[in-house]
Amino acid sequence: TQDNAEQQGAGENKPPDESTDDKVSKSDISLLQKLLHSKLVHNKADLEVLRKDPTSPLHSVKSFEALHLKPQLLKGVYDMGFNAPSKIQETALPVLLADPPCNMIAQSQSGTGKTAAFVLTMLSRADSSKPYPQCLCLAPTYELALQIGQVTSEMSKHMEGLQITYAVRGERVARGEKLNSHIIIGTPGTVVDWAFKFRSFDIRLIRVFVLDEADVMISLQGHQDQSYRLQRGLSADCQMLLFSATYDSSVMEFAGKIIPNDPVIIKLRREEESLDNIKQYYIECNSQQEKFEALSNIYSAISIGQSMIFCATRKMASWLAEKMTGEGHAVGLLSGELPIEMRADIIKRFRDGKEKVLITTNVSARGIDVEQVTVVVNFDLPLTLDHKPDCETYLHRIGRTGRFGKNGIAINFVDGHRSMNTLRFIEKHFGRQISKLDADDLDAIE
Ligand code: ADP
Repeated sequence: TQDNAEQQGAGENKPPDESTDDKVSKSDISLLQKLLHSKLVHNKADLEVLRKDPTSPLHSVKSFEALHLKPQLLKGVYDMGFNAPSKIQETALPVLLADPPCNMIAQSQSGTGKTAAFVLTMLSRADSSKPYPQCLCLAPTYELALQIGQVTSEMSKHMEGLQITYAVRGERVARGEKLNSHIIIGTPGTVVDWAFKFRSFDIRLIRVFVLDEADVMISLQGHQDQSYRLQRGLSADCQMLLFSATYDSSVMEFAGKIIPNDPVIIKLRREEESLDNIKQYYIECNSQQEKFEALSNIYSAISIGQSMIFCATRKMASWLAEKMTGEGHAVGLLSGELPIEMRADIIKRFRDGKEKVLITTNVSARGIDVEQVTVVVNFDLPLTLDHKPDCETYLHRIGRTGRFGKNGIAINFVDGHRSMNTLRFIEKHFGRQISKLDADDLDAIE
């Protein structure tokens, strides 16, 4: 499949023993985040708004009532437990629902309320008395399309007669059959077929076009061109919207082509992670076994709330998980070969406190945030694919955002020259001391 091709390409230069665990594509990370975000991720960073057209509306709303939604839609929103708009929704929704409609490009990290915002927009504009598709939403993968569909069904549950169709692999329409549902949610390839080959709907009648997860979309071969093709089929007065979790120059370029006409651009930066509230230590060991023994000492000597342990390879992670389990610890093992749903379950169990220790590799932990973790152990220090110290990953494993700025402890294992050099490099890079800890005398840890 395209996904596999992509992963193989990405793995060309990686060290041999990581190879078995490098199967995480952008779409996997995205889906994992969707499965994990059962509530909003709060973000205090500043919202940035750019608009070329000064007449486009710009104000923020503090309540859903202020948006004058159809009563059945408002009821659906409240039934989902949404009391007030999220930070990005406060500013995005008035623009999204304005008349005449405005185009928008919006970027913010996963979990900040983008999906809810565009689903609300589609539902608010769809007229269920007209028996043809009026809203079209593109997602990069089958699974991501289904996630959006679930939100749409739930939010529209009081809107009688409103129908959604999935245009994804496995769903078929007969040639010449005309769709009479109101919202189509699908992946680019299938939607292209339905629009141009089977003519199952008239793309010129689409009133709201949404492209979600633009950054994932461009990472998948073929999706970009298919998206352009669909976009070109839209009528000029169709509302065009694009959403993304990240916003680098390749996403920007794509976004500019998908939404060419005066979009309002909204960006919500990720809250910065910092090492300010973290005490960092290192322990010197001579072997893997010695590392385990030191770790075991730590767990018996100090009371640790939730902790995560990072290993370089899947093999190391499962070895350690077995050893720790043997010592009576309740550990979860997060491994890259598991299906995403199972990975999400393991992370949820850990978040719920069912296991206090989560052992993981770099790769399978990508994209997850567990706020209540207070101790992070680098059983192996993070390295980039070409074996250089990976400071960014170090910060992401250990760092805290301002909001969750509780104190934390990081313990790094060093075994030999190279890892000592890595540690020194990281220490210098951040300008924060990493203190030596004696595995047999842990009094230094506070
Ligand atoms: P994103 O698309 O940016 O990843 P979502 O729209 O999926 O974010 O929202 C993340 C989580 O927060 C979901 O579980 C969603 O149901 C919930 N959510 C979204 N908007 C609100 C809101 N205004 N109030 C409460 N919860 C919300």
